Amino acid sequence: MAGECQNAFCVVRPPGHHAGPRGQVTAEDDPDGGSHGFCLFNNVAVAAAYARHMYRHKGIQRVAILDFDVHHGNGTEALVRNLEPTTVTNTFPTLFGDVTLESPSYKPWLDETDSDNVLFVSLHGYGHGFYPSSGRTGADRPVFNVGWPLCKDKNQASRDWRTAWRNAVMPALKDFKPDMIFLSCGLDGHRKDEMNHGFVCLQETDYEWLTEQVVEVANVHCQGQCVVVVVVVVVVVVVVVVVVVVVVVVVAFVLLACLLACACLWLPVCFFLFVLCCFHG
Ligand SMILES: [Zn+2]
Repeated sequence: MAGECQNAFCVVRPPGHHAGPRGQVTAEDDPDGGSHGFCLFNNVAVAAAYARHMYRHKGIQRVAILDFDVHHGNGTEALVRNLEPTTVTNTFPTLFGDVTLESPSYKPWLDETDSDNVLFVSLHGYGHGFYPSSGRTGADRPVFNVGWPLCKDKNQASRDWRTAWRNAVMPALKDFKPDMIFLSCGLDGHRKDEMNHGFVCLQETDYEWLTEQVVEVANVHCQGQCVVVVVVVVVVVVVVVVVVVVVVVVVAFVLLACLLACACLWLPVCFFLFVLCCFHG
């Protein structure tokens, strides 16, 4: 915003797009909210809210968040929907049966015009109970979801995915005329990532292609301002794997050392018993 650079690339951990207004977000098929997707704070929504609030006098009125993680950005959707007063329904089990409580929920980023000035788009895997089981295709301002079915033909996947962005999302983004674009970018849609269970099936060139498309829109409407917020769930997996391997190696080493120590201790005793037996004939 100081004019020193046009675009920003933020590598952020923990990821955030499953964190909603009250933390966990549930869906019809996932009433417990599952693992909460490793998310604690919705980083991309915080960034968009900050930009809209703090830089409103520097030309940032309209902010768009594009989410192409393989999972639906259910937390970001909940936060964007919470820009208007809504009613939240929670059901709690008690000794006398389930109790349902309704409470108002409303968290504006700037003012009552938020809904008109924020756009959230998510293109993600959808169906067969794929986490988080929400995000059916549909446009309901300020949210635009594209639920993507399981890949049948990996060779066709990239072309279909690009067509969906080109024909469905980009026109909506251009019509919205954002002042700043945020890319909520999870890389788990890559065909070699097992987290996607066969949904989306992207390649490196698809990410490059989409980024170029978004930058083109940013160059027209946003003076080139585009922020890429990359979530790195993979770091958690790698760290866990490394820790497990280290623990297994250390335990194996300790066990081996114990066995050797026992052997060293018992060998002289066995030898002594053997000699004693020989003496007694
Ligand atoms: Zn994901």
